[in-house]
Amino acid sequence: RVERADESYFDSYGHFDIHRTMISDKARLLPKFRIKPASHVRTDAYQRALEGNPMLMKGAAVLDVGCGTGILSMFAARGGAAQITAVEGSKRMAEQARSIVAENKLDSASGGPITIVSARMEDTFMNLLQVDVIVSEWMGYALFFESMLDSVIYARDRWLKPGGAVLPDLASIHMAGAGAGALDLEFWNDVYGFSYRPVQNLLLEASLKDAIVAPVDARHLLTAPCCLRSFDIATMSAADTEFSTEFVLEAAPSATGAAAECHALVLWFDTEFSARFCKEQPGLLSTSPLTQQTHWAQTILTLREPVLLQTQAAAAEGGAASLRGRLSFGRSDKHRCLDISLECQAYSAQGAPAGS
Ligand code: SAH
Repeated sequence: RVERADESYFDSYGHFDIHRTMISDKARLLPKFRIKPASHVRTDAYQRALEGNPMLMKGAAVLDVGCGTGILSMFAARGGAAQITAVEGSKRMAEQARSIVAENKLDSASGGPITIVSARMEDTFMNLLQVDVIVSEWMGYALFFESMLDSVIYARDRWLKPGGAVLPDLASIHMAGAGAGALDLEFWNDVYGFSYRPVQNLLLEASLKDAIVAPVDARHLLTAPCCLRSFDIATMSAADTEFSTEFVLEAAPSATGAAAECHALVLWFDTEFSARFCKEQPGLLSTSPLTQQTHWAQTILTLREPVLLQTQAAAAEGGAASLRGRLSFGRSDKHRCLDISLECQAYSAQGAPAGS
């Protein structure tokens, strides 16, 4: 049953549009360039890790889990890897990767280091020797949507040499409170002078059930971010992707000092190519709203009731100073989907509950 469901998953990666979107997820020089200096956007971050760390990559045996068009394997080849096995579950894309790699004379027939394997990682009973490095771009919305990390962990436990590198090797999930602007529903306030409130209500209702994936502008954030959980990809198990954690979000000082209504909690993730394996050039791939947007955007959880948030100093005059609660991530019955549940309560600066 699961394998049948995976057919449509792999079909969705059989077309170039999605691969083009991912490959072009790299730094663009925007006027509002807010990227943290240390952060790199998707494809740039992988290139830096694979080409900027010869101590790790020179002569290494590498496994690329879910190679798509083969871009990460080709970076690894440029980085000096001696043997690269690139596994792709979409047959169509694996064929294309084979042509692209041959076109660039990086296939074994041309004396290059890359071999493409057209198979699901879990079905590959390869007589693959143990590898020094596993690289994969497995991250989904809110980090774990798509559950592709399972396949990376499966490969790690079978084919990675003891002490070998997993790229990226660290990941973390973060959250902050945001105003109504994050839900992007004002458009329906005034449509050529008409109110589209029914549409607004419908969308709001739907957003209470299903998280919204959309870019959130940093100006809509009302609290300092908090880190919900960190993961070590080199050691974690697939079961660790299900977790429940308490959080505290402190209201951020607002420019005007006025209270603001918090309507949503915004989730994002960071991944790191840390100095543990990338000694020469460690790197960060952040999908925070405080850095340049990526195709992962942010994941927005709408609150049932908005909460009036005030900074600590002004909170004496009413409104809450912090939001505290519990957030859980679990696997959904729906194939490769995520169940996120959220409970939260507002607290005044004095620590008294101020509504839930
Ligand atoms: N590495 C490429 C593509 C990343 S998208 C890049 O960085 O541009 C993830 C790819 O992994 C998709 O092409 C998908 O088909 C493939 N994939 C996902 N799960 C897989 C599995 N279990 N076995 C093999 N390929 C998988």
